[in-house]
Amino acid sequence: MNIEVDTHTHTVLSGHAHSTLLENAAAAAKKGLKGFVMTDHGPNLPGACPEFNLGTYPYLPSHIDGVRIFAGVETNIIDYDGTIDVSENYLKLTDYAIAGLHEIVLQSGTKSQNTNAVMGAFENPYVDIIAHPDNPSYELDYEAVVKKAARLNKLFEVNDHSFVYREGGLANAAVFLPLCRKYGVRVAVSSDAHFALNIGKNKLATSILKENNFPSELVVNLTLKRFEGYLKERQKRLSL
Ligand SMILES: [Zn+2]
Ligand SMILES: [Zn+2]
Repeated sequence: MNIEVDTHTHTVLSGHAHSTLLENAAAAAKKGLKGFVMTDHGPNLPGACPEFNLGTYPYLPSHIDGVRIFAGVETNIIDYDGTIDVSENYLKLTDYAIAGLHEIVLQSGTKSQNTNAVMGAFENPYVDIIAHPDNPSYELDYEAVVKKAARLNKLFEVNDHSFVYREGGLANAAVFLPLCRKYGVRVAVSSDAHFALNIGKNKLATSILKENNFPSELVVNLTLKRFEGYLKERQKRLSL
């Protein structure tokens, strides 16, 4: 599976990543990617930039080294209602927004609290996807969350870095991928790279899709064209 767009990447602006946007773009071009989304962490993660950093997005180029650059953010879910740490003033400058649960920002609650947090974040019209839903630290009612994503036409993430970094993630993906298939929920395959040379890394993520016979039609970032089609849907959703 040749994924053309990486939907989750970090730069030095996250505070704990190692490469600049130019370095990420050069690495993406070298790997033959057609685009990537820069998704630096929201302000509640220690070391991340204040949200006004997103105010620079309109001044960045749409392409670097021939690679399409999308403006995104990985917001933090800050409570069990699913509130996120970036306000609408700045979310409206993004092409794509991830919402993530991170232990350093919000400790895991009960299964029902975690599920409520993720479903609440999905209710935010700017939020497209939940980061690393495979994270075993946050027990989730996957069926409820996938059904919610289906109802709102939102996405599920298959995050390569998470499978490497978090033991138990692959087993959780084997639970939610069949549910995504069942309810027609699209997934985005991402590297969650914190270093330029990891941009586009998706070997584990794509192998788990294969093991689960996951239909490539449901991979939203398989081609640049398909991903841009999704972003048009997002625009429509936001204009309603
Ligand atoms: Zn994350
Ligand atoms: Zn990330």
